[in-house]
Amino acid sequence: MREFHNLYIDGSWTAPAEPAVLELTDPATGRPSGRAALGGATDVDRAVTAARNAFASFSITTAAERVDLLEAIGAEYARRAEDMAQAVTEELGSPLDLSRSLHVPSGQSQFHNAARALRNLDLVEKRGSTWVRREPIGVCALITPWNYPALQPAGKVASALAAGCTVVLKPAQLTPYSAVVLAEILEAAGVPAGVFNLVLGRGSVIGDALNQHPEVDMISFTGSGPVAVGVLTAAAPTAKRVVTELGGKSPQIVLPDADLDTAVNTAVLYALLNSGQTCGAASRTLVPRERQDEFLAALTPAAEALKVGDPHSQGTSMGPVVSAGQWDTVQGYIRKGIEEGARLVTGGPGKPDLPDTLKDGHFVRPTVFADVTNDMTIAREEIFGPVMSVIAYESIEDAITIANDSPYGLCGYVTSGDPQQALAVAERMRTGYVLINDADFDFNTSWGGYKQSGNGREWADFGIGEYLETKSIVGVHA
Ligand code: NAD
Repeated sequence: MREFHNLYIDGSWTAPAEPAVLELTDPATGRPSGRAALGGATDVDRAVTAARNAFASFSITTAAERVDLLEAIGAEYARRAEDMAQAVTEELGSPLDLSRSLHVPSGQSQFHNAARALRNLDLVEKRGSTWVRREPIGVCALITPWNYPALQPAGKVASALAAGCTVVLKPAQLTPYSAVVLAEILEAAGVPAGVFNLVLGRGSVIGDALNQHPEVDMISFTGSGPVAVGVLTAAAPTAKRVVTELGGKSPQIVLPDADLDTAVNTAVLYALLNSGQTCGAASRTLVPRERQDEFLAALTPAAEALKVGDPHSQGTSMGPVVSAGQWDTVQGYIRKGIEEGARLVTGGPGKPDLPDTLKDGHFVRPTVFADVTNDMTIAREEIFGPVMSVIAYESIEDAITIANDSPYGLCGYVTSGDPQQALAVAERMRTGYVLINDADFDFNTSWGGYKQSGNGREWADFGIGEYLETKSIVGVHA
């Protein structure tokens, strides 16, 4: 059992002003896994004050000093990698193999990538006697979701610190364990008191106090659209910058000349990764109508071969979804797909066959629907579970139209045997990130969405840019 009863404020581990804890359960067993502090508005105020005080000195550190700090954090992160992996698996239910191979390295890489980007960033540009300076925006509230609990906070913290900002991190209440490990990493790496503060607690309490706080200059929010609207509205009276990274309904276009194995492997990997709880999940698979049967014949056994089970066992490829509430949501979408006439190819409602020890876990059967049309609920709304929707298209033009016919625009995937054609289709996708064939995720570039997938960019120099103000000084003769 994990017991985290403190918040990290102004360089100290300190109890909430009104001590309270949240009981957490293991998603794989439904049994208690630990308890974490629940902060309140007073704690937010203390954390924001600490960040404001620390900003005076941290904002004038040199870029070279911050590069050293980011590298020190990356090195400490590497030392704590196994602790971070265990924390992610316990709170999220992600298979330990996946926590080690994806969650942790993606979090750690953020600090090295930010250091590299900062080394190459020109923070002062001279245009004759006018100097354009890029300066840290100030105190930033970082609000993160539960689905990538190592990556999301790391991306925001790395970019903000690189820029010279001070921060208050409020992670999702379901995933506090990895946030505590991150705070320990930052403390051990020598981040000065007040530069990083961690306030655990409920979104409606901590989030709202941050949204409205007059001493918070910027909010970087990753989460769902409806909550983002509330954040934007609450932040409006203080005119703070609000950067949003929201949901998706990302298409994979399998072009007529695509290699079948590549198409199927990409579909299974990117639709079902992390139990489908990925903002950029390839949850709509667009296949040429004449190849749909062939595609489904290969996709079905691949989905059925996924080993769903105990996240701590070696070889498990899919764990549970994060909570009972998320399980209910996913089941609702599976029922909706059936009601609206999609053809259930494999998976479906209920839990997979698992040992008794896992019977109270939030496991979902990897589910594939075919004959999905793009107006069905399962093609329009983010499910955030292991549910794939296969949509047949008539022509490449038709595929591009279907792909872009979504309120979202986060990610896209193109599978083709012809690199030129793949690129041409990728260029026409209205999404902020596109992967061609079996390319690995690149964390050293920009990440962010078009349309209702958000207005921000994260990672590397693009992420740092969000935390900077631009100032012109005219008439410099120094
Ligand atoms: P959520 O919107 O429910 O919560 C996100 C965060 O906001 C949590 O920390 C939550 O406590 C907090 N929050 C809740 N109410 C708040 C309020 N009134 N003010 C401020 N903060 C508040 O999202 P979730 O369920 O944690 O995460 C899933 C969503 O996140 C999905 O839609 C997913 O696509 C999205 N997501 C997007 C990206 C991206 O990079 N675009 C990455 C990961 C997840």
